[in-house]
Amino acid sequence: MLARRLGFFLLASLSIAASSFAGTVRIGVLSLFHPTELTVGPASQSVLVLEVAHRRIAVREGSDARLRVADGRVECRSGEFVLIGSMVRGEIQPGGPAAFTLSVPGRISREYQGSLEVSVRDGVLVPVVVMDLELAVASAVAAESSPGAPPEALKAQAVATRSYYFAAHRHTAFGFCDATHCQFLREPPGATSPAMIAAASTRGMVLTYRGKIVPALFSASCGGRTRSLRDAGMAPQGYPYYSVACEYCLHHAPRWKTTLSLENDVDIQSGPGTEAWRLRIDRKLGWSAIPGNHYQLNAQGDALIIQGSGQGHGVGLCQLGSAGMAAEGKAFQDILNYYFPNTSLADAADAESSP
Ligand SMILES: [Zn+2]
Ligand SMILES: [Zn+2]
Repeated sequence: MLARRLGFFLLASLSIAASSFAGTVRIGVLSLFHPTELTVGPASQSVLVLEVAHRRIAVREGSDARLRVADGRVECRSGEFVLIGSMVRGEIQPGGPAAFTLSVPGRISREYQGSLEVSVRDGVLVPVVVMDLELAVASAVAAESSPGAPPEALKAQAVATRSYYFAAHRHTAFGFCDATHCQFLREPPGATSPAMIAAASTRGMVLTYRGKIVPALFSASCGGRTRSLRDAGMAPQGYPYYSVACEYCLHHAPRWKTTLSLENDVDIQSGPGTEAWRLRIDRKLGWSAIPGNHYQLNAQGDALIIQGSGQGHGVGLCQLGSAGMAAEGKAFQDILNYYFPNTSLADAADAESSP
């Protein structure tokens, strides 16, 4: 009874199935923090049920459970109960709002909707949120878009984001991460937010090329012309992408200048202009060293001066150019047709079932 008063108690056997049905997406969250400890608790008016090795703990509102790495497994501690297993699964009891708060103590706390799976990999906890695909789309649109982006640009982003979640494959332990490596994702936006409306008004809509869903790439600003995969030195497979002029970006993309030491910083022989070269230098010198792929090189003595404009790889949808088109009155279909030539819009359910 003490436990009940404190807000947690052990439950009998009934097991939580690993949910991976169509319509959900598995997002590895908070991975940039490499957590070895996490706390998780239910949002208001909910009960969070945690299952570890076929035993279950219910965590009530106002309480939480602490997870940590213990001998390569997950230790889950809530009140007087300590359970250890290779995986902790968490689900909000039916009836409540399906939201829980996940925190890296002292670092970050976020609220998610969906179910939770936490395992251990390479000595750190790997939390994965299994969330409704459309909610993930709205969350990524909110996190990836500039404040004040026009509604039609948000809709174009929503279709690109959804297509990416359907067709890209970037991780083995889960579907996607919550960082810019895949798509940036934070908490779900409000029910009446522009991102939620953009997702709802394009619900289920994806980009296809020759009947297959395109894992639609996008970047902040191309600098004046987008790139094909070949231009960016990326392996062509499926949709090749096309280089299109981006008039708005040409005049409005942020300009930048970087000076690198030819001696220490740069291997000039292997691939300036490619995305791999840019990422190699940025990993070494910081992510603002070469912000985008639209630039000119100028060697002076042992210095390499790089002047460019735009941010990101410049392949696919250009967010700045898209906002410019939307401000001119173009619809999201026009924007997608422009940045993804030779693609069609389709319902994901039909595109998925096509051979
Ligand atoms: Zn990723
Ligand atoms: Zn552009």
